Amino acid sequence: MPELPEVETIVRGLKTFVPGKTVRRLEVRHAKVAARHGTQAFQNLLTGQTFTGVERRGKFLHFRFSSGFSLVVHLRMTGKFIVHTHGPVPDHPHIRLVFLFTDRTALIYSDLRIFGSFGVYRPEERIPEFECLGRDPVTEKIPAEWFLSQCRQRSIPVKVLLLDQKVLCGIGNIYACEALFRARIDPRLPARKITLKQAALLLREIRAILKLAIRHNGTSVSDFRNVDDKTGGFQKLLKVYGREGQACPRCRRTTIRRIKQAQRSTYFCPKCQGTRPSLDR
Ligand SMILES: [Zn+2]
Repeated sequence: MPELPEVETIVRGLKTFVPGKTVRRLEVRHAKVAARHGTQAFQNLLTGQTFTGVERRGKFLHFRFSSGFSLVVHLRMTGKFIVHTHGPVPDHPHIRLVFLFTDRTALIYSDLRIFGSFGVYRPEERIPEFECLGRDPVTEKIPAEWFLSQCRQRSIPVKVLLLDQKVLCGIGNIYACEALFRARIDPRLPARKITLKQAALLLREIRAILKLAIRHNGTSVSDFRNVDDKTGGFQKLLKVYGREGQACPRCRRTTIRRIKQAQRSTYFCPKCQGTRPSLDR
């Protein structure tokens, strides 16, 4: 699933392409992507619109049009955008949506499992997707005291709290594991037991890992591709994620363990992220 760095990478790619493009025709190749509006209404809403820009909000893509309309997209598991600059759009079975532009270029949306979501909003409409989004660790300088106050209210493990988009938005499973490893915090530690020092350290490491991932164009552990269809280069730098049974890259004496937390795999080093020192605090 694309996480914040992947979405940021996609948005940066799209920023160089979509502004100024006018939709000549919208081809809906699978009705499910337009399900919220219905195919005909979806096409009517977007045909003739001119893109002015695109930005990331959490893991959502927020496209803006000169009319003041917004298009809000979540890629979910397997959604991706592909920029198409010349020739006819291919007939690939995973292509669900094609924005054909007046300059004869196109923006292709491909999605193997079709969990991605598309919502069009008029200028005066509220955008519910953004209303419950938490703070963005990449674009905002988040005070440790604020993060600590969020943690103090919850008895769930700190790893599970990191996945809650209403607190911090954009962190998924991979970066939650990596940030906790870098901050040497046990993923099982109840969030309410975290100290101010740990909260500050964790925020710093979250920011660092996400920025590093953005610089490396995101992670590609499943089938993520950025808009130019280049594979993300970050997976080589992952220290614990997907490394169960391998030696810990920091202490080298302990093997990385995998446990289940809230139906997701957590990878950690039981020694470096020792239970005892942090749980006793
Ligand atoms: Zn270790």
